[in-house]
Amino acid sequence: MGKGGKGAEAAAAAAGAGEEENMAAWLVAKNTLKIMPFKLPPVGTYDVRVRMKAVGICGSDVHYLREMRIAHFVVKEPMVIGHECAGVIEEVGSGVTHLAVGDRVALEPGISCWRCRHCKGGRYNLCEDMKFFATPPVHGSLANQASKSKQF
Ligand SMILES: [Zn+2]
Ligand SMILES: [Zn+2]
Repeated sequence: MGKGGKGAEAAAAAAGAGEEENMAAWLVAKNTLKIMPFKLPPVGTYDVRVRMKAVGICGSDVHYLREMRIAHFVVKEPMVIGHECAGVIEEVGSGVTHLAVGDRVALEPGISCWRCRHCKGGRYNLCEDMKFFATPPVHGSLANQASKSKQF
């Protein structure tokens, strides 16, 4: 390992008390992915932070990679791809009672609103206000860590 490696290590150590930088695969242009830092928001009351162990590459990820869009969803700014994922919980919000640090979980990539008639009728997959991993403007989960609402 050359000097560059040592320098990076030192920089990481200097960056702070064991705080590891979360890295992710960003789609930046057609057929161009870059591994860059991905800062997650602080874990909310009903959220969890998950250490990713496996992330699938979906047909939609490939489609975004090639075209930078799917139908009316257009990637206008760099976006983290990936949404079919599983991992281990590392942090839970204070309102999360059914999950604990260390639990192994698979993540439902969509977060529905829980207020509309579809959600209340138990068919959340039809929610018109769905926020979906790796669908603009929501970032995906091809990263070391991802955060997620605990509802799923
Ligand atoms: Zn998919
Ligand atoms: Zn809904």
